[in-house]
Amino acid sequence: MSGPVTTNDTDTDVHHESARPPCVEVIEGRVSEVGSLEVSRVLPRRARRTVGAWCFADHFGPSDVEVAAMNVGPHPHIGLQTVTWIIDGEALHRDSLGSEQLIQPGQLNLMTAGRGVSHAEETPDDVFGEIHGLQLWIAQPESTRHGDPAFEHHGSLPQVELDGGGRGTILVGSFAGSTSPARTDTPLVGADLVFEAGLAAPLDPSFEHALIVVEGSVTLDGQEVAPGSLAYLGLGRDELDLVTDDHARVVLIGGEPFDDDLLMWWNFVARTRDEIDEAQREWQAGADRFGRVESTLDRIDAPTPQWQHG
Ligand code: MN
Repeated sequence: MSGPVTTNDTDTDVHHESARPPCVEVIEGRVSEVGSLEVSRVLPRRARRTVGAWCFADHFGPSDVEVAAMNVGPHPHIGLQTVTWIIDGEALHRDSLGSEQLIQPGQLNLMTAGRGVSHAEETPDDVFGEIHGLQLWIAQPESTRHGDPAFEHHGSLPQVELDGGGRGTILVGSFAGSTSPARTDTPLVGADLVFEAGLAAPLDPSFEHALIVVEGSVTLDGQEVAPGSLAYLGLGRDELDLVTDDHARVVLIGGEPFDDDLLMWWNFVARTRDEIDEAQREWQAGADRFGRVESTLDRIDAPTPQWQHG
């Protein structure tokens, strides 16, 4: 699952503003389609482009795989990491590094694009039932974004019991005293939190944070946040205190404010139009930069950047 980012999601130039001190800013997701799968895109939105280095978040499903499955043919990325997090179902990742990896609930796929990679995401033939999950992108900093692509699969991740009865799984970074083994290129956190009544957990006040509500409805500082939306929590918050009536699941994302002005277009995260133009041209030309993916799905063509239409 991935992109593409369109002008419906964001103006192309991304300027960062971090709100402070702690706030709750609820941002509605936008319904989009990736392959046949309907997604709620909660990042980037015009009102909020990045949270730390997190620059993209799609919440897909729950959807019956016989109605709408994940089948995204080979496509390229530059300058970002893709984080695939499955709540229900399974997906098969194939990339130009030769990785072929089934991913199941509780596991993490982390692909680093660097200067260029390509991948496909498929629903295995023998999978039935529902597909439900998230795909997130993390913008790479200058120090790694021109580097080699890489792929990591983490079959199990640290789990923590939280005050108030919640349970957390740490996707990246550190949360409530535990640290994920996944690579991070900037100070970052990502955690999946499940709870029945409420939860409390410490946060790093030097990070800005946001919540993606996946299941149930949560109340934060007296404000209700429904599934399909993102609640931006700003900088300077040192505790997360959530309440729900029944059962809720949220994904917490956060990090040090990412100061680079990003240019996000289609499946590329860069800084300038020239970089995007070059990546678009090289993907269309089948250049070695993006390698080859073994997939039965059709390769996805890059559109022409809107600024080239004059
Ligand atoms: Mn992708």
